[in-house]
Amino acid sequence: MKNFEGFGLNPALAESLARMKYVNPTPIQEQAIPLALKGHDIMGTAQTGTGKTAAFAIPLVEKLLTNPRGTALVLTPTRELGKQIMDIMHQLLGSKSPIKTAFIIGGEPMGKQLSQLRARPRLIVGTPGRINDHLERGSMMLHDADFLVLDETDRMLDMGFMVQLERIFKYMPEKRQTLMFSATLPNNILTLSKQYMHAPKRVCVGETNVVASNIRQDVVRIEQDKKYNELLAQLHDRKGSVIVFIKTKYGADRMAKNLRRDGFTSDALHGDLRQTKRDKVMQNFRTQNFRVLIATDIAARGLDVPHIAHVINYDLPQVAEDYIHRMGRTARAGAKGEAISFVSQQDGRKWHAIERLLNPDAAHDESAGRPARNSRNRNRPGGKKRFYRSRKKAA
Ligand code: AMP
Repeated sequence: MKNFEGFGLNPALAESLARMKYVNPTPIQEQAIPLALKGHDIMGTAQTGTGKTAAFAIPLVEKLLTNPRGTALVLTPTRELGKQIMDIMHQLLGSKSPIKTAFIIGGEPMGKQLSQLRARPRLIVGTPGRINDHLERGSMMLHDADFLVLDETDRMLDMGFMVQLERIFKYMPEKRQTLMFSATLPNNILTLSKQYMHAPKRVCVGETNVVASNIRQDVVRIEQDKKYNELLAQLHDRKGSVIVFIKTKYGADRMAKNLRRDGFTSDALHGDLRQTKRDKVMQNFRTQNFRVLIATDIAARGLDVPHIAHVINYDLPQVAEDYIHRMGRTARAGAKGEAISFVSQQDGRKWHAIERLLNPDAAHDESAGRPARNSRNRNRPGGKKRFYRSRKKAA
């Protein structure tokens, strides 16, 4: 398949794609779209930044346009991700579309959601907790929802949404099409797919435990109390927008404040902020009103901000898989990106787990704290990650 024309999409949808300058499908789109258009269930794994959203959004919109009755539901773990999905859906539907949508996420007032739901939306995008609330109070009906997308399913389960997901499925017709996407396929996801999907087709792009090859990954061995000065030095050395990952919500706020004090435009994004504040932070970051976004893992999952040039792991992630998701915040849609991880002595186990995930067949020379000489690092073209020690003084 060379371009989108080969899919035989509805002219309105083809027009939207042209407007969005989507000419050629990405590999995940090339695999998933024809299967979804034929009505198959899909179990998809793909690296972040591969065009996964459009891989489900295009067949979903095609179905809404061709079947005047059907309703679709998209479940996603976080509000930010939901907003990105909603934006793509609106672009695909076009501004003049009569198809109504509802955006149902937690942390927002009920009033607007209730009026969107009363208008009989044919597309609902939202987070499982709030969708469940509406189902239980009777303000949402899903008996004709025949198209279901589960995005970032592994993260939804990590966040404890299994119970809510199962409740939501009960409100939906059994005869439906289900598209499930996940970065990883742990056992609980395989069980979920067996139980709730019909003969799903596997769609897989690349190895999911590989960081995109256009991201240069560096590591700084550093003591915990020297990290902040090293961060300042790194920010001085680098150009362009940066996302800094940090462990705690409180730490994120404090760091954004300290960076502003030290001359960098910065703001924090984490799960404790009110929705309006989160939207404002994201809007300001997207429009490059500030340069350094300090984020916790949950808030940053799936963010698609094309100008992020650097990812800094100030704290390593609790879960090794999140390292790959963090890397996926840069080098979006084929651009180049750089990443650096601060690894302190206390981080030994976490770092080892990340190394194992990225490079499972490499022997690991623990004493030197780096991959053994003959190890094959699949995550960096032409060799290993670069390791260096922190500089003595911040520049
Ligand atoms: P995603 O993996 O869905 O977050 O998408 C990553 C980025 O690729 C987003 O900025 C999309 O707008 C962009 N994108 C997705 N599909 C295409 C395509 N076929 N052509 C050009 N850009 C695309």
